[in-house]
This record gives sequence, structure tokens and C-alpha cells, in this order.
Amino acid sequence: MNERLLCKCPNNIMAHKVVSILTNDDIVFRQHDETNDPRTGAYGPTPGIAIYVFEKDYEKAHMMIEPIVNSSTESIKPFCPKCGSEDTSRIEKNKFMIPLLILSIVLFIAPVAYFYFTKDLENHSMILDILAIIAFLSSIVMAFLCDRKTANYKCNGCGKKFNRI
Ligand SMILES: [Zn+2]
Repeated sequence: MNERLLCKCPNNIMAHKVVSILTNDDIVFRQHDETNDPRTGAYGPTPGIAIYVFEKDYEKAHMMIEPIVNSSTESIKPFCPKCGSEDTSRIEKNKFMIPLLILSIVLFIAPVAYFYFTKDLENHSMILDILAIIAFLSSIVMAFLCDRKTANYKCNGCGKKFNRI
């Protein structure tokens, strides 16, 4: 009997789903993990877990696994790292973020440059020194705030903000 390639699963999770459906319906299949094949590139640039079925079962098997194959191409919604809820929504980036980030970089570099170029001068201006230190410290605070604001997802359940991993 002829075998036919039913599908190629990019990961174990999907392969497991396909296999359990086929097992439930008593469809004989053969699994071949191309990712474990020592011949690199033997299956093209994207090796996966190939699942073969007999030609006679192909139509039936294909119909049953189609929802899985299709759903895997949809983007998976991130879940909340705190409560595990999938009810999350995307946070639009704060439009002040980029100017704030640039300002923090300027405030970071300016005092460093100031101290670097004035280090050989005899009479430092006390006020400028203090301003430079304040600018330097505020740049660190701003950078910290920017970092905190980069969370791009929010949990609708518990309100936790997080980055999509
Ligand atoms: Zn949550």
C-alpha cells in the first residue's frame, strides 16, 4: 500500500495533536521526525515532524486534522504570566516614549562628555557640576521609566502588564 505525506508539523505540540486524532479514529500512521535526522538539509530548509498515512486513509485523515493545521497558522494570543488568563489585549505604544528615550540618552551622554572635556580644567563651575550630575541621574531614572513602559500587553483579568514573549 502506498504511503502519503499527510502533514508536516513544525513542533511536537502540533504533532501530538495530529497523532492523537489519528489514533482515536484508528488510522494507521507513521511519524518521522525530520528534526532528528542527521542528514542536515535532507528535507529542505524547514524540517518538521512528518506524518504519513496510507493512501486510502488520506482523505479522511486530512479532513480531520485540517482544523489543527489551520489553527496553528493563526497567531497565538499571549497569556498573562500572573494569572494565566488568555483574555489579554495589546497596549498601544506611548507616543511620548521615543522623545523620552532620546532625551534620556542625551542627558546621559551630555554630563559624561562634560566631565570628560572639563577634567583637565582648574576651575570647575560648581553649578555646572551639580547640573551635570542631576542630568546624569535623571537620565537613569528616565531610562528606567522607559523600560517599565515597554510592556505591550495587558491582562484584562488581573490588570498585569507584560511583554509578549
Ligand atoms: Zn492576569
